[in-house]
Order: sequence, then C-alpha cells, then structure tokens
Amino acid sequence: MPARETLARMKAVVGPKGYIDAAEDMAPYLVERRELYHGRAAAVLRPASTAEVSALMKIAHETGTPVVPQGGNTGLVGGQIPFEGGGEVILSLSRMNRIVSVDALNNTLTVEAGVTLAAAQEAAAKARRLFPLSLASEGSCQIGGNLSTNAGGTAVLRYGNARELVLGLEVVLANGDVWDGRKGLRKDNTGYDLKHLFMGSEGTLGIITGAVLKLFAQPRSVETAFVAVPSVEAAVALLRLAEAASGGLVTGFELMPRIGVEFVLRHVPGTVDPLGTASEWYVLLELSSGDADGKLHETLQELLTSAVAEVGVADAVIAASDAQRMQLWKMRESMSDVQRLEGGSIKHDVSVPVSSIGDFIARATKAVEKAMPGIRPVPFGHVGDGNIHFNLTQPLGADKAAFLARWDEMNAIVHGIVRELNGSISAEHGVGRMKRDEIAATKSPVEIETMRAVKRALDPKGILNPGKVVEV
Ligand code: FAD
Repeated sequence: MPARETLARMKAVVGPKGYIDAAEDMAPYLVERRELYHGRAAAVLRPASTAEVSALMKIAHETGTPVVPQGGNTGLVGGQIPFEGGGEVILSLSRMNRIVSVDALNNTLTVEAGVTLAAAQEAAAKARRLFPLSLASEGSCQIGGNLSTNAGGTAVLRYGNARELVLGLEVVLANGDVWDGRKGLRKDNTGYDLKHLFMGSEGTLGIITGAVLKLFAQPRSVETAFVAVPSVEAAVALLRLAEAASGGLVTGFELMPRIGVEFVLRHVPGTVDPLGTASEWYVLLELSSGDADGKLHETLQELLTSAVAEVGVADAVIAASDAQRMQLWKMRESMSDVQRLEGGSIKHDVSVPVSSIGDFIARATKAVEKAMPGIRPVPFGHVGDGNIHFNLTQPLGADKAAFLARWDEMNAIVHGIVRELNGSISAEHGVGRMKRDEIAATKSPVEIETMRAVKRALDPKGILNPGKVVEV
C-alpha cells in the first residue's frame, strides 16, 4: 500500500474532483468488462492536464508507487486493471478529453489522450475529414488506450492499425519528464522514432497524454454488401477478386459464420436475416471511393456477378440505404457481445497469413471439437488482415464454470496451431496480463531480453503497469 502521505500528495495535485478512494466509486475502474479480472487499488487519480500527470508521476517515481494507466477500460486482456494486492494507483485519463486543434490543410487532428474514439471521429467529420480507426467499442475507448494497444478494427485493410494513423505523441515518462513530440510531420528521419516505442506498449513505458492523428479525405461513396460464401477459402478468394475488380477500394472485409449470425438474430432485437437462405459463411464487404458518380455501386454489382462463377458466391444483398448499411454492420458488431448470452465463451484473438486462414479454421475447429464434443466455435473477424477471433461457445446445456475452467487447455490447442502456421497469438488486443507468460514462452529469448532492456531503460523502478506485457 502506498503511504498515506504519498496519497495525500497525489490528492493535492489533482484536487478532490480528480481523486477517488471510496469503494463504490472506485468499483467500475477495478473490473474488466468481461469480468475476467477484478483488481484492487489504493486510489483512482483523474488528472486534468499533462502538468498534473507529470506531477503525479514525479511523486510515484520518488516513492516507488506502481501506476496503472487506464483509458476507456474496454481492453480485453486485463492490462488496465490493477492486481489484487491493492498497492497500485489507477491513473485515468478520462478528464483529459479536449480536442486541441484541427489542421484541415495539414490533415491532422490534435487531441488529448482521454478523447473517446467516437469524439475524435466526430471532430474529423466536422472538418470534413475522416479519422478511419473504427472499433465496436468506439463510444467508450479512448485515443490514449487505442494507441497504447495499437488497436486494429474494421478499416485496417485500407488505412492500417492505430500505429499507422499517428504523426506525433506527447508522453509523460516514468520519472515525470514530459516528451512533447506532437509534430504533424509526414517525414522526419532524425534518429529513433520514439513514438513507436510507446504505441502498443500498453502503459508499461510511458503515459500517453496527447497525440497528433492523421486525417484522410472523406469517401464520397460507400457501398456495403452482405455476401453468402460457401467456405472460408471462397471468402479469401472473394477478397482478392474484390481488390482487383475495384482497383484497391476495399475498406472492410469481415467474415462471419452462420452460428454467429444466428446468435445475433436470437439476442439482438430488431435484427433480421439479411439473406433468404442460410449459408455456412458470410462476408461483410465494404468498398469506398472519392467519386460520387454512382460508379462504385456498378463496380460492386459487377464484382458480385463475377463472384458467382469465380468463387461460388450463392447470394448477396447490397445495402440500399444508410439505415440498411447500419443494419448489416450491426450484425458484425454485435457478434462479440452476443456470445456471452449463449453461456461461457473462450476467446482467441489470433492472426495467420491470409492464405492460411482456411487451413487454420479447419484445423482448429477439428481439434477443439475432438477435445470437447459439442463445443460451438464462432470464428469471425477481420479476415482481410488475417485476424480471426476464434471464439468458442460452451456446448448447449454445459456448466459454464466447468467450461471456462478449460480456458488454458483450449488456448494451448488453438495457439499451438497458430504457431505452426507462423501466426500471432495476439493480433490486436495486446498482451496485458492475460498473455504475458505465454508470449515469454513463445518469443525468442533475444526478443524478450530486448523488450526487458527497453523496459528497464525507460522505467528503471518498474512502476509503470508492472506485471503487464513483460515480466522484468
Ligand atoms: P483501456 O482498456 O483502458 O487500456 C488498455 C491498455 O492501454 C492498458 O494496458 C492500459 O494500461 C493502457 N492505456 C490506456 N490508456 C493509456 C494511456 N493514455 N497511456 C498509456 N497507457 C494507456 N480492439 C481492437 O484492436 N480491435 C477491435 O476491433 C476491437 N473491438 C472491440 C470490441 C468490443 C465490443 C470491445 C469491448 C473491445 C474491443 N477491442 C478491440 C479492444 C479495446 O476496445 C481496444 O484495445 C482499445 O484500444 C482499448 O482502449 P481503452 O481506452 O478502452 O483502453
């Protein structure tokens, strides 16, 4: 536990508005939304400025107080939740939620780290620009959390991961020093590119307090189709066909299995089956372009017509309105949440080369079904990036606790196949607490030791999110 005097000094920095220590008020900060991790903390600190974050870190550094940075608390690997000991403080960025500036000519948006992703998208849209990062959690997750996890989402295929959408960062280091690297430059070869160290580091190397984000031209036409495909291999063939036929205009390409669609239809009021006949697999395909001449619609129609013969597409619907487009996306965006309404769900966030996705899903499905007859695999996700959420729903009528007790066993089976295919066991959600020991066992000793050396150099006292990502 931090000394009472340390907490009093921290409280003096943030004032009563920025300090929470009552159990009922701290509760929402101490549990991850899937309830896999429950922690304890000495206090929740809610600074309102970079200067306050810096002052807090100076005290933490001097007193050796461990700090857990927290954004929107939507992370899925326990990185933002303290351990059970109660000796850590949570540093929440939620009060640092100002849009600092928009430079429409430079195509940049400068924000504080606590701005939600949805608010950043809105600020870009007001300036008639696009900030393309898009996740189902965008109403709650924050830019600082997105960058700290190098978030992916549904538009990676066209615009890249969060890391690729940032030009500059402001970071408070473990000792309280502030690095203001908020430059809006697209070219800057002046030595190590420090921002990339902090992005994807999950709060273990520094606290991101601000960022300069890249903006893009808004598409003037968007076309979305819900397509029935006979197999995963056919889905991948459709991706390549769509890229070629549209001249590189594919923005989203999401795979969904029939069982996932059935879960959504069963549990999300107002959803309807987009196609008349059931298919084992579906793809949500989105094209976008800068032209507003209606040609994109024609391109999509022609593409789907040729896909009937070339990849065996059985049926498809093109959204006729924005409302219908949102309905189709709702199908995809609800796919994660509905699984908990079917009982226990064991998660995998993996990636393999796109050409190996069919092989991966077939082998992993067979292996988990052999280990647990009746298990219901729900593989879905960003197939265009090779990123599949290979989630497993408990057998009908099974005991939830007994099912979840086999989490590690199922992970070992699935991750073993991922490794054989030269894939990654954490494609977009990060490492946090959940996968820390597993990555240590799977990365090379050279890689792990280099990660440790970086951690020791930037956080010599080990106070930034200790015990997450890599054990030092
Ligand atoms: P938090 O959960 O609060 O924190 C995540 C990590 O970042 C923690 O380690 C924390 O310590 C650290 N951190 C947070 N803020 C800072 C900061 N300012 N400085 C330093 N470290 C910080 N993720 C994807 O990549 N793609 C998806 O498609 C996707 N879909 C999702 C859908 C749903 C329904 C949900 C619930 C989650 C989804 N996620 C997805 C996971 C999650 O939303 C992302 O990881 C998101 O980027 C986390 O942002 P956050 O603000 O909630 O961060």
